[in-house]
Amino acid sequence: MPMTALSALPTCLAEGRGIDFHMHSTASDGALAPAALVALCHQRGVTHMALTDHDTVAGVAEAQSAAEPLGMCLLPGTELSSQWRGVNIHVVGLLPHGAQGALDEGLVAQARAREARSEVIATRLEKIGLKDALARARQQTGGEDRPLGRPDFAKALVEAELVPDIATAFKKYLGNGKPGDVKSHWPYLSEVVEWIVDAGGVAVLAHPLRYGMTRRKRGLLLDDFHKAGGEAVELVSGYQNADLTRDLARQLDERGFYGSLGSDFHFPGGAIAPGALSDVPRTRVVPVWMHPRLAAFGAAKPVTNSESI
Ligand code: AMP
Ligand code: MN
Ligand code: MN
Ligand code: MN
Repeated sequence: MPMTALSALPTCLAEGRGIDFHMHSTASDGALAPAALVALCHQRGVTHMALTDHDTVAGVAEAQSAAEPLGMCLLPGTELSSQWRGVNIHVVGLLPHGAQGALDEGLVAQARAREARSEVIATRLEKIGLKDALARARQQTGGEDRPLGRPDFAKALVEAELVPDIATAFKKYLGNGKPGDVKSHWPYLSEVVEWIVDAGGVAVLAHPLRYGMTRRKRGLLLDDFHKAGGEAVELVSGYQNADLTRDLARQLDERGFYGSLGSDFHFPGGAIAPGALSDVPRTRVVPVWMHPRLAAFGAAKPVTNSESI
């Protein structure tokens, strides 16, 4: 069994080292090109990684080519934007067969939704004084031809000196409930979960502690996510409070969810780095890499649709 196979990993979440199943590249709002991200992971001792760019798998092929000669395990993935009870919820799809089936069309729809949303965000930001908001946001992608995200608008606001920094841009204009927080374009939570399942992937609820929910509301979200076909939840996302993690583990255990781990890394130089996570508590929650649809990944080259035709 090659060491890169997910089945070679520990059977206990607390012993998972060198694993990071949530990271971004220049295919969405990350700063590093996919190959550079893979190189950084390798340098930091991350051996098993998933590339999970927002609403796209565009960076996966480059990441895979970079990972193979380094003997690393690269699991294709994406982080889908959705809505649930008026909250913007993110669902990571871990995709051993890449994007296929309903997910293929879903990603096309997500790109269109992002374009339409950008126009609404631009109009709203123009009202608060950001002239040519759409063009200015487009200038923030470093020449990448990709749909825009809120971080591009945040950078444009900073550049126009309407706010001192990105954090203030989100706090005043782009964060939850602010004028630039436009959610209506996203599909419902259940829909994006169905896409992931149709592609033969595992749907993972991303960073459950970052939605500003009470424990009770998070429980309702977990119930609905489970009903929709969601099977895993990020038990640890980057750095988080140890007491909250233990409590979250109980909520996952009660519902029989698998647990995932990811840094949500976007750019070097900040507090978050690939593979850097808060401690994972001893828990009965089963690691997502033991999920039957993922366990065989990396043991042999996965056969994709295009190869079997
Ligand atoms: P979008 O995918 O366009 O909805 O933008 C969401 C992204 O904005 C997240 O994935 C983060 O990368 C970034 N983001 C969200 N909140 C903040 C914040 N408070 N400060 C900096 N970046 C943020
Ligand atoms: Mn992001
Ligand atoms: Mn997210
Ligand atoms: Mn993310």
